[in-house]
Amino acid sequence: MHENGEFLAADLLAELQQTAWELQREHVNASPFYKTLWQGNSAPMRLSDLPELPLCSKSDLRLSQAAHPPFGDYLNTPRAQVTRLHRTSGTTGQAMNLALSARDCAMTEAVAGRCQHSAGLGREDTVVHCLNYQMWMGGLTDHMGLERTGAMVIPFGVGNTELLIRTILEVGVTAISCTPSYPAVIARVLAERFDGVKPRDLGLKLGLFGGEPGLDDMALRDRIRAEWGLEPRNANYGVSDVFCNFAAQCADDTRLHFMASDVLYPELIDPESDQPLDIRPGQTGELVLTHLERDCQPLVRFRTGDIITIDETEPCDCGRTGFRFRVVGRNDDMVVVRGLNLFPTMVASVLAAIPALSGDYRIMLDQPPPHDVLPVSAELAQGVEPSEALVNQIEAALKKSLGASARVSLLAHGSLAVTQGKTRRVMRTYQ
Ligand SMILES: [Zn+2]
Repeated sequence: MHENGEFLAADLLAELQQTAWELQREHVNASPFYKTLWQGNSAPMRLSDLPELPLCSKSDLRLSQAAHPPFGDYLNTPRAQVTRLHRTSGTTGQAMNLALSARDCAMTEAVAGRCQHSAGLGREDTVVHCLNYQMWMGGLTDHMGLERTGAMVIPFGVGNTELLIRTILEVGVTAISCTPSYPAVIARVLAERFDGVKPRDLGLKLGLFGGEPGLDDMALRDRIRAEWGLEPRNANYGVSDVFCNFAAQCADDTRLHFMASDVLYPELIDPESDQPLDIRPGQTGELVLTHLERDCQPLVRFRTGDIITIDETEPCDCGRTGFRFRVVGRNDDMVVVRGLNLFPTMVASVLAAIPALSGDYRIMLDQPPPHDVLPVSAELAQGVEPSEALVNQIEAALKKSLGASARVSLLAHGSLAVTQGKTRRVMRTYQ
C-alpha cells in the first residue's frame, strides 16, 4: 500500500500494482478455493493477463462458506490471524462471514479514510456516524475510516432519532455520516417532537452519504441543501466482500473517484457475455475487482454485481488519479422493458424532479418477464392529494426520459418504510 495511493501517476501506479500482484499471486495460488475454481491452473504472472482466469461470483463464495463454515475455503490464513469478523445481514440470502487480519483492517480503514477526506471531512470536524454497528461493516469499520481523517467521531449507530437530535444540538456536531434517505427520518422526528426546530437549526455543515445510490440525483442534493443548509457528498461506495469503502466524490466533482488503485485492481466486463471491456470514458459494464494486497479472504476477478459507467479516466482537478464513475444499477436490479435495459436509478432521477412526489418509489413486478411496461409505485409528497393529472404527468416524464412506457400508481405520503440500510427498489412478487 502506498501512502498517497489515490494521487499516483499512471506509470508509477502500474509498476506498483504489478509488484504487489507478484506477491499476492503466490498467496492466492496456494488457495484450495482457487485451485478448484481455476481447475488446477495458477494465476498469471502479468496482471494484464488476469482475464485468462475465470470470474469469481458471490454464489461461489456462498457455496464455499456453506461447505467450509464459517469463512469458506477462500480463507487463506490460519484462523489465529483473523482479528475482526463482520457479517452481512443475509436479508437476500445466506449471511456472509467476512474475516479481516490486522493488516486487512488497517488497509481497509486507510482506503475508507481517503474517501471520507476527499468528501470533505477533516480534523476540525465532529462527525456523528449513523450506520448500523451490529456486525455490519458499515458500522465499526466505516467508523474507523472516519477517524483516519483526523475528525472527532461519535459512534451513534441506528435508531433513537430523538437522542441523535439532542446529541447533535448539545455537542456541536458539524457532519453526519448516514444513508441519503436518513435525513428525511430526522426531519420527520423534528416536526413531530421538537416544536419549531427546523433541520437547518441543527447546524450540520456536511453530509457524508453512502449505502444508496440516490445522490447521483442532483435534485435530491438541491433539496437537502435547501432544507438542511449542509453540503451533501457521496462519501462512501464499497462492496463488503472487497473493501467497505473505496470510492467517493471530491469538492470539485460529484462523481465517484476510484480510490484504491494501489491495492485493488479493477476490470470492467459485459454482464451478459462476461467479456472484458476497456476502462474508458462512456463505457458501461459490471465492475470486477481483484485484491492486490489481502491476507484473509483474497478475491480474484470478483464480480461485484454493480453496473457502472466510466465518466473520466484523466486525473481530476483535485489531483486524484483514479477513474471517475457512476453506479447505474445492480446486475439483478436490471429490468428489461421492450428490449431497453432499465435501472431503478433512472426512475429515481425522473421522480425526484417532480415536486408533488416524495422521491421514494418501488418498481413492483407482479409477473415474470418479458415486460411491456414498467410498473412504478411513487410516494406523494406531504400534503399532496393523488390525481389522474399527476399520474399522467409522471407517466409522460418517464416515457420521455427512459423511452419505455410506465404504469404509475400513487402512494400516500409516509407509506413506504424508510430503511437505514440499502433499500430494495425492485420488488418481484411473482412465483
Ligand atoms: Zn476530484
